[in-house]
Parts: sequence; structure tokens; C-alpha cells
Amino acid sequence: MQFKDIVGQRDIINRLTAVIDSGRVSHAQRIIGDERDGSLQLAWAYLQYLCCEHKQHFENGELRADSCGECPSCKKISQLVHPDLHFIFPNPPNGSSNVSAEDYMKEFLDFMLNTHALGTLNDFNDTLSGDVKTSMIRETDAAHLVKVLSMKPYEGGWRMVVIWNADRMNAAAANELLKTLEEPLPMTIILLVDNYDKKLLPTIESRVQTIKLKAGSEKSKVEDNPEFAGMLVGWLRMLFKLKMKELSAQVDKMAALNREQLKLFLQYGLGTMRACFLATAAGVECHLGSGDEKFDSQFPKMITTNNIELIESAFDDAIFAIERNAYAKIALMELSFRISKALKKR
Ligand SMILES: [Zn+2]
Repeated sequence: MQFKDIVGQRDIINRLTAVIDSGRVSHAQRIIGDERDGSLQLAWAYLQYLCCEHKQHFENGELRADSCGECPSCKKISQLVHPDLHFIFPNPPNGSSNVSAEDYMKEFLDFMLNTHALGTLNDFNDTLSGDVKTSMIRETDAAHLVKVLSMKPYEGGWRMVVIWNADRMNAAAANELLKTLEEPLPMTIILLVDNYDKKLLPTIESRVQTIKLKAGSEKSKVEDNPEFAGMLVGWLRMLFKLKMKELSAQVDKMAALNREQLKLFLQYGLGTMRACFLATAAGVECHLGSGDEKFDSQFPKMITTNNIELIESAFDDAIFAIERNAYAKIALMELSFRISKALKKR
């Protein structure tokens, strides 16, 4: 998970990367947002950036920095196989007091990968056929964590703990964890991730630094730009029909934008595709803002794990071509054919 994969929250992300770059990382932090605001995504991308061996810094982008996505550490964290990355989450009791999050780890990691960390606790419990009401973080979970942290890290770098839905921690678990939160271990970071409306036990709350995500709408709403939205939707419709004359006329309209505007339009299109993909993965609505409700509700479902990478690389190549002064109409026709093909692979 890279920061670029998160929709919105640019100000917060830029502040976080600045703090990491300055080396003043707080050992216990709480990330809170509404459901599906991406708080778990942010924790994931944060840890990937923290450990990245080739952090990237950008001069003029909306992000000031991001992880490279390519180094061994990035790969392990993005695939959730880093040996020093640990998760605790509410788990159903299952009739035995010894059950812990460890027993559901495979299901949890699959859930994170499948939903791009946008799923809710309800969604997760659906995959377990567990009972959300009794799903808790218990003393066994906290004790396991304390034990893990008493051992040496495998890779000699950061040890990372994510406590998802930390408000579901019962008092016994919280007490077990207090010492760990009070006396930070070297090179150890604990991120508590949960929702606005949930209360943490005060003893825990007072020991963590809080990061609040911007609420609501940002997650699935593509940034407002009615002119671009209309043009994008007009073009996407043509890609289904592929009637050459109409497509060519639509592409002419796009190619008439000046180069800078065209680049912005393509970036807008790419952002829209990503937002559609994330919204569909999380099972929420994505609003294209075209004014055509039927198209707005149907189109996002066309973007899936089967074609998002093809679509992203097609847009990236078109943006690259426009930056290099390629003939706009040819670049846009090429993009049209590639997107049309990709949409059929959903
Ligand atoms: Zn990296």
C-alpha cells in the first residue's frame, strides 16, 4: 500500500511523511476515521513508508513523498508478509477462552488484501461467520503481543503493530498493554486504528498520539470538476460502443484541450478509475458526477482487480506521451483502444 493508492487525505499524509523524515516518530499513535475512510489503509501505507529503503520525494505533486513500492521491505509490507509486522483485531470467542486473533490471522490478511483495507469490522465478521457483537480484543491477544515484542525483531529494523478496531479492547487486554504503551521499546511502533464514534479506555487514550482523518465524502467521491466529468463520461460511453466515427469525434474534443489541460484531464480520468475501483472493492457507491445516475452506478463495477492495472498503465502511458509532446489525437486513440479492451476483462 502506497500513499498514492489512498483517496484524499493529502494534507495528513504530507504531515506524516514530514514527521517520519525528521526522525521524530511517536511510538504509539491512533488513527481515527469514519468507516471506509481509509484509516487502515493509512496505517498500512505509513508503515510501508517508515521502512522503505528508497523513499521517494516529489517536487510538485500533491504528495510530498511516498514509499518506492519496489524495495524488499515495501514488497513484504505490501503483501503483508513482513515478519515484524503484527496485527491484532477483534475476534469472535468461539466457545473457548484461548482463541485469539492469531487463530484468524490468515482470514484477516486475506480480508485486508481483498478489500484493500477498506472493509469494516462487520464485513470481516461476515467472512468469519462470527458474531460481531461479541467480537473482542481480549487478554490472550494482548498477552501474545507482549510476548512477541519481548523477542528480537527478525529483520533488525522496525517492529510494527497494528491494533485494528482498538475500541473493541476489553479492560483486561488494555491493562495488559498499558506497560508496553507507557514504556516504549526501541524501534517499535504501535498504531491503533478505529472510528470517530468509538471510545477508548482513558488509560490507553492518554498514552497515544491521535491522527484524525478528514471525515466522510472524500473517500468515494471523485473531486468535483463538472466539465471533466462530462467529457470523461462521454468518452467512456463511446468505448463500449466503439463506433469509430463517434469515438473519433469525442477524441477530437479531448484533443482540443491545451496540453496542460489535457494532462490534467487524463490525471482526473486516472483518479476516477482508481476511485471507482476502491469504491467497488469496498462495496460502496462511487459518484462519477456525470448527471446520469444509471451510468454512474453501473460503470464503477466494471473496474476490478482484473483490469485496474491495465487501465492504470494505459493512462500513465498517455500522460507520459502528452508530457513528451506526442500527437494528442494518436495518444488518445491508443488510450481508447486499451481502455476498451481492459473494460472487457472485468
Ligand atoms: Zn521501498
